[in-house]
Amino acid sequence: MSKGLLIVFAGASGVGKGTMMKRMLKLNENCRLSVSATTRLPRAGEQDGREYYFVSREAFEELIREDGFLEYAEYVGNCYGTPKKPVFEMLDQGIDVFLEIELKGFLQVKKAYPECVSIFVIPPSEEELRLRLEGRGTESAEVIEERLRTAQTEMAHQHLFDYVVVNDDVDRASREVLSIIESIKSKQ
Ligand code: 5GP
Repeated sequence: MSKGLLIVFAGASGVGKGTMMKRMLKLNENCRLSVSATTRLPRAGEQDGREYYFVSREAFEELIREDGFLEYAEYVGNCYGTPKKPVFEMLDQGIDVFLEIELKGFLQVKKAYPECVSIFVIPPSEEELRLRLEGRGTESAEVIEERLRTAQTEMAHQHLFDYVVVNDDVDRASREVLSIIESIKSKQ
């Protein structure tokens, strides 16, 4: 059995990665999303162990000391990291694993695991991104501004990724990502 593909799935906050991810997991049963650990507080509807493992900063730092992360980074005041062990177990089982992570984490993964495939999702326009972040209603105005500034920095680095996909329509964009993966796998 061949190993699974490690796919870095990145893009600005509010671009719709989460919705695309849910659609892709439904469409392709060989794909899984790695569940990250974060020090951010859960949003309404988020469940521990499903969207994230919600941990204290102390517990996060302990995981760093134990070398438990494939990558980790600080993003707008909170820490986020990918637990290493489950990812490698899934890859060994031939499962394709998505990491929904930000830019600094991607750079670490690219270094440690150069065979990863990286996909960056962009919004149809910057205005659309602001509307989506504001419409979500989960962050304060201050946090939205900081997330938009971070989004600009991230978008300026999109050339570092293997593929850039425009999320103009969730279904279309999700299918585009899946066909990229299929095409890579068919050549392996
Ligand atoms: P949010 O707070 O909106 O859930 O996530 C904020 C940002 O952190 C998003 O860009 C998301 O992709 C990223 N992120 C989520 N999990 C991880 C992780 O494990 N590592 C890194 N580096 N970024 C992550």
